Amino acid sequence: MTKIRVLDPDTVNQIAAGEVVERPASVVKELLENAIDAGSTSILVDVSSDMAAITKIRVTDNGEGMTPEEAVLAFHPHATSKIRDIADLSTIRTLGFRGEALASIAAVAEVTIITRPRGAGALAGTRLVIRGAEVVEKSEVGAPEGTTVVVERLFYNTPARRKFLKSRNTELAHVYAVVENLALAHGEVAFRVVHNGKERMATQRSGGALNTIAGLYGADLARSLVPVEGRLPFLRIGGYISRPSESRGNPSQVFVSINGRSIASRQIAAAVREGYGTLLPKDRYPVAFLDLAIDTDLVDVNVHPTKREVRLSREREILPAVSAAVEEALAGHDLARETPAEPAQQRIASTEPGPIPSPIGEPGASYTAGHRELTLSDKQLRRTETEGGENLLPAMEPIGQVAATYIVAEGTDGTLYLVDQHAAHERVLYDQVTERRDKATGSQELIAPVILSLPPKESTALRDAIPLLADGGFVVDEFGRDTFAVRAVPAALGAVEDPGTVRETIADLLADESRTVPDRRQTVTCIVACRGAVKAGAVLTHDQQKRLLAQLARTKTPWTCPHGRPTVVAFDRKKLDGIFRRG
Ligand code: ADP
Ligand code: MG
Repeated sequence: MTKIRVLDPDTVNQIAAGEVVERPASVVKELLENAIDAGSTSILVDVSSDMAAITKIRVTDNGEGMTPEEAVLAFHPHATSKIRDIADLSTIRTLGFRGEALASIAAVAEVTIITRPRGAGALAGTRLVIRGAEVVEKSEVGAPEGTTVVVERLFYNTPARRKFLKSRNTELAHVYAVVENLALAHGEVAFRVVHNGKERMATQRSGGALNTIAGLYGADLARSLVPVEGRLPFLRIGGYISRPSESRGNPSQVFVSINGRSIASRQIAAAVREGYGTLLPKDRYPVAFLDLAIDTDLVDVNVHPTKREVRLSREREILPAVSAAVEEALAGHDLARETPAEPAQQRIASTEPGPIPSPIGEPGASYTAGHRELTLSDKQLRRTETEGGENLLPAMEPIGQVAATYIVAEGTDGTLYLVDQHAAHERVLYDQVTERRDKATGSQELIAPVILSLPPKESTALRDAIPLLADGGFVVDEFGRDTFAVRAVPAALGAVEDPGTVRETIADLLADESRTVPDRRQTVTCIVACRGAVKAGAVLTHDQQKRLLAQLARTKTPWTCPHGRPTVVAFDRKKLDGIFRRG
């Protein structure tokens, strides 16, 4: 007697099923994929449950259907109409190809199928009842063209698997997520989900991806999205991304499909995030719906049992192309228009420097600024004066300030603009410092070096940061133990008269915990921009307001500051009229 034996087919199938059928949502995913592959234009998912669990899943499609022989074959393990051999995988267009789903589902549940081929004329439909992976009933029935699969008593024979199921609502949520993902990737199909007789979700057949998005997440979100486009010889990128104001705390709403397959890919999500650069704070993620059409021979779909992951050749070209497409879509886009329903949902703490004499709370106060304050703002604005460049903001004329913090301006078409003066000037400075750094100019020598004596830990940090600081326009020398001389600062900071400012700036930089060099560089730039920018609470003359708006308009991304907050908010005529309920 040998201790090794070949497993019987039932056991083999149950083990194989474990990979494909993890939970009710997996059943829904496989049945939907089959329905889509069958060329359906309309698919109904009908789920029943009791208080504890999902009891029945029924998926009905109007696809090409099957003959009686095909229907029987479909439940054999490794039976598929979609490929003949492995070479076919390199040109695959269907979602399925493993020929395992129906066999796997039938191995762990009770399945009934009713199907009738398209254009079968008088030929009747077929009804199969499958128990224990065997066809136990086969009959002719009247049926519409297409296929209905009913799955009941899931995991009745695999109690271990059943034990791992979560609450009914969690499992339902997974089902909805599966439908969402497939619906987003397949606008050519109308999806409807019903739970215990109640409609839970419905998408229309193509009116484009935006319609699907509106159907799933509401018209407000859909309206606020920005279209994305990109191309390489072997790649086409399309889809929609959120404005920075619509961000989320995690990447779960970056939906990606590759050749109609909804895919989970950290790398692509990261590439999308990358495209936002400083428009989003570090820990925020956008909402995105991206479709990638990639030459099929570059996509290896056979790497994951449930096909949620794929392997991409030429990923090194694809990922940067995604980032570039996102960046391009956002650059200069009117990011403030149609501000979403909940504005200011993401106030990011960013410390603004210096004491800010805030006149807020003094109604009707007329702000008179001291001479010193006005010249400071003047100097700050003069440092960022540039010639030429494209205007990326609509023309607007300042009317005045509110709370010495927001510039109120009017557009030629009667749009009202509110501009955060500090955020706006930060954006201007940030862009200029970045640009100058690339050209390695923009340092300004201090008349007297600022001496810093630091505790050991900080001095190590500063020593390490010297090259990075040099990159950003700081010239720092170490002389003596734990003592440093700051000899020059970025031109954007201006001639710093106050050594305190230098100390504070350096302290800010040392407090930064970013790891990667690009991140730390960005922090240097952000801090310099923040320190050098016109302050909130600074009274500006009409001329200064005008200059600031003109400078902002010539930046590449005028609608947000480097922290991702809006710089400009617009209320167009329609919106104003709406607020006052005029016609
Ligand atoms: P795969 O999708 O990988 O081919 P499945 O086990 O999911 O494997 O399905 C087996 C075969 O059954 C499919 O290749 C297809 O020919 C047929 N089939 C399954 N579902 C449907 C359906 N809803 N409409 C028409 N044919 C179907
Ligand atoms: Mg399949």
